[in-house]
Amino acid sequence: MIIILKAGSEEKDAQYILEKIKDAGLEPLYMPGVERIVLGAIGDERVLATLHLESYEAVEDVRPVLSPYKLVSREVHHQDSVVSIGKSSFGNGNFSIMAGPCSIETADQIERSAKMVKDAGLSVLRGGAYKPRTSPYSFQGLGEEGLEYMAAASRKYNLACISEVMDVHEIDTLSAHVDALQIGARNMQNYRLLQAVGQQDKPVLLKRGMSASVEELLLAAEYIYKEGNHRIILCERGIRTFETATRNTLDLNAVAYLKEKSHLPVIVDPSHGTGVRSLVIPMALAAVGAGADGLMIEAHPNPEQALSDGQQSLDEEDLGRLLEKLQIFVAAAGKTMN
Ligand code: PEP
Ligand code: MN
Repeated sequence: MIIILKAGSEEKDAQYILEKIKDAGLEPLYMPGVERIVLGAIGDERVLATLHLESYEAVEDVRPVLSPYKLVSREVHHQDSVVSIGKSSFGNGNFSIMAGPCSIETADQIERSAKMVKDAGLSVLRGGAYKPRTSPYSFQGLGEEGLEYMAAASRKYNLACISEVMDVHEIDTLSAHVDALQIGARNMQNYRLLQAVGQQDKPVLLKRGMSASVEELLLAAEYIYKEGNHRIILCERGIRTFETATRNTLDLNAVAYLKEKSHLPVIVDPSHGTGVRSLVIPMALAAVGAGADGLMIEAHPNPEQALSDGQQSLDEEDLGRLLEKLQIFVAAAGKTMN
């Protein structure tokens, strides 16, 4: 339920009602806005009805939250949330880019990747150390050794870094080396993992499952948010359709839809979304038009030699070209690149 207070209500009015909500065993939410104070009560609505909040002096209206997701919905939280990773911010007019190789391969490879990212003017380096590969015979990532290489490269170039966590038991190891945790497409509905990252204090990049609906993505984000971690960035990375010309079908509908329904920042990964290097730049530009708050781009100093996803990775020259084109699109969207 959303409880809208009358104009002119004060924080003490809100606190009084929040106490009542808490005493009834519901989860209280305090959301002061520019014009009105809005409160939330999450839990059994029959219990809330017994409180008769509509009869309180300070209350203007009590409305149900119609969507199945609550805390991540725009109904509950009107303003865009901003999530920062290092110097990069996502949301509310801020547009940022995370870039780097699919996998961390060697100390030298990630160092050269970091330099590429720095030289492009970006400040978040991505790189996988625990890789969710389709075949158990494919390169599985360097694990903690890889994270150490990436942390050293990030320090050298003053970058923040992000890497995927596949298992609850890897969270501490990752947290020691990275600034943000990525939940990959294959784990979007690993609910114990979602709850666990919800209980730690690093920002989380939540990628959409390849067969997940947008509602399922938002409910997955709700799992994280509900545990107390509100720093969540959603990522559209392509879904499985009948189309086989590209690796996935990048669902830009989802971006516009998510921006409408949720206050969380949304970024697009056109690398996995297409699986084809030549399509990455056009789809990155299209993502800006759809309302994305940023991008995740696979970039490698030598894509031909990459141990994973080389076919969709940009090299230094491509990355420069992408950024040059993006400037114009991001400015036209009224956003600031940072
Ligand atoms: C990745 O970002 O390297 C990755 C494995 O992506 P996804 O989970 O979207 O497949
Ligand atoms: Mn990849």
